[in-house]
Amino acid sequence: MKRITVVGLGIIGNAWAQNLHADGLTVRGWNRSPKNVPFYEADLAKAVADAEMIIIVVADPPAVESVLDVIVPQLKRGQLVAQSSTISAHWTKLFAKRVEATGAEFLEAPFTGSKPAAEARKTVFYLGGTAELVEKARPVLERLSVSRLHVGPVGSASSLKLAMNLNLAMMMQALSESLTLTRSEGISDEKFFEALHMNVGRSGLSDLKEPKLKAKDFAAQFSLKHMNKDLRLALETAGSLDLPVAKQLKSFYDKGMGAGFGDDDFTGVIRLLGKMEENKK
Ligand code: NAP
Repeated sequence: MKRITVVGLGIIGNAWAQNLHADGLTVRGWNRSPKNVPFYEADLAKAVADAEMIIIVVADPPAVESVLDVIVPQLKRGQLVAQSSTISAHWTKLFAKRVEATGAEFLEAPFTGSKPAAEARKTVFYLGGTAELVEKARPVLERLSVSRLHVGPVGSASSLKLAMNLNLAMMMQALSESLTLTRSEGISDEKFFEALHMNVGRSGLSDLKEPKLKAKDFAAQFSLKHMNKDLRLALETAGSLDLPVAKQLKSFYDKGMGAGFGDDDFTGVIRLLGKMEENKK
C-alpha cells in the first residue's frame, strides 16, 4: 500500500505521517485545526478519497465518530481503515460495523509508546481483527513500529490497551507519590533515582520519565487529559467489576483536570500533589 491518509495530526499522528512521508509514500494528513505540513489536506473527504489505508488517530470516541460522519459516505471496497485512537471495545465494535457496511475493511490498531517512540518508529501496536487483515496492514505498520501484537477479534485490542494504561497510571501515581515523599524529606531527586535504579521498583516508565521529573518538564508526550479519558473508558469497560484503586485514581485525575493540568504530560500528577500541599497552607 502506497497511498496512506493519516487522520489526526496531533502528537502521534504527526510523527507517524512525517515518517511515512519520509519513506516516500503518498501521504495525506488531515487535522481538525490546520497544520503547516507539506502533506496537509484541509478537506477530510478529499483526504481519504483515493487512500488505500486510512489511519485514524484522534482524541476520543466523539472525535472518531465525527471523523466517521464525514468519511463513511466516501469509503469503499478496497480501502482499509486502521483505528488507532485509544477508545473502548464498545465504541470500537460500533465503529467497525459502520466502516464494514461500506465495503471497506476495519482494523483495530491501538498502540503504546509516546512521542519519542512514535518519532523513532518504535510504536507497539495491539491489533484486533482477522489474521488476514493484520497481514495486509503489516507493511505499513512495520514502518511505524517495533512490534505488532495480534490480540484477537475486534474489541480485544482496545480492552488490552486500556488495561495497559490503567497499569501505567497506577505506576505513575506510585512514582509521583514516592518522589513527593522524598522531596518533602529533603532528599534530592538524584538520590531518589539512584536508589530506584538499584531497586526492583525501577521500570521502563520510571526510566522514560526520570529526566522529565527531574527537570520539572511537563510538556506532553502523553497528556494527562488522555490518561483521564483512558481511566474513564477502563472503568466503563470494567462495569460492575470492582477496581477500587482505579476508581480513586479517576477522582484524582478529575481534580487534575479541574486544576487546569489536562494539557500537561501525565507526569503532571506530581504537580497536582504539590498544589494540594500548597492549598493546605
Ligand atoms: P493529541 O496530541 O492531543 O491530538 C489529538 C488529536 O485529536 C488532534 O489531532 C486533535 O485535533 C484531534 N481531535 C480532538 N477532538 C477532535 C474532534 N472532535 N474531531 C476531530 N479531531 C479531533 O493526542 P495524541 O497524543 O496524538 O493521541 C491521539 C490518540 O492516541 C489518543 O486517543 C491517545 O489516547 C492515544 N495515544 C496516545 C499516546 C501518546 O503517548 N501520546 C500513546 C498511546 C495512545 P486538534 O489539533 O484540532 O485539536
